[in-house]
Amino acid sequence: MYQEIIELIQDAEKILIGIGPELKINEINSTMSLEQVKKYLTTISGKEYEIIEKLVEKKDYFIISSNVDGGLVCSGLDENRWVTPLGNPFIFQCIEQNCDGLRDFTKEKEILWKEEKVLCPKCKKEMRVNIRRKENSEQYNENGYLSQWEKYQKWLSCTLNRKLVILELGEGFECPALFRWPFEKTVFFHQKAKLIRVNEKLWQIGEEIKERAVSIPVNAKDFLAECEKHICEK
Ligand SMILES: [Zn+2]
Repeated sequence: MYQEIIELIQDAEKILIGIGPELKINEINSTMSLEQVKKYLTTISGKEYEIIEKLVEKKDYFIISSNVDGGLVCSGLDENRWVTPLGNPFIFQCIEQNCDGLRDFTKEKEILWKEEKVLCPKCKKEMRVNIRRKENSEQYNENGYLSQWEKYQKWLSCTLNRKLVILELGEGFECPALFRWPFEKTVFFHQKAKLIRVNEKLWQIGEEIKERAVSIPVNAKDFLAECEKHICEK
């Protein structure tokens, strides 16, 4: 099965990947101090992302993640090819509710390490990490990911009539409107698209897209580990 999956991915013209909670690295929350955020960042390891990198090597891909753990940002994947719509620990927003100040350290991570305080470029108040959690969904500043979101939309618009493979890795129903449902919709309307849904418990696929979808009832971490073995054997 894994050999077939890898061949399907390598045969695609476009690869769209969705990353969900099964690949979450660690817990982070919006109230963490800068010191706690830095400590958190040292816990990020990228084993799964290295395998994803191998899977999409030399391919035209895009990745969307519902995790706020920073895993994608710390991976070696191209910064122009992913979006984290619920935020990540390298973007900071102003603590002041009425101020829309943001600072993005994604492309200058080393600067974040040197900062003792992250201050708002607009009002000079302190900033906190720009991630959307249940406890702060009202305060989350959505502007933090917008430029990446535009890249995502542009990339998506170029997938029509192309051999598109969508690999959904461990996404659940915490925020299905982000990509779980849109992926299904894309496969439904897009005759050349295929969906590979990987999830230990929530692997089900609706009748209407069954012909162009494969469901793999395995935890996304185990799935990637197995894929790696098959990539190496090639
Ligand atoms: Zn401010």
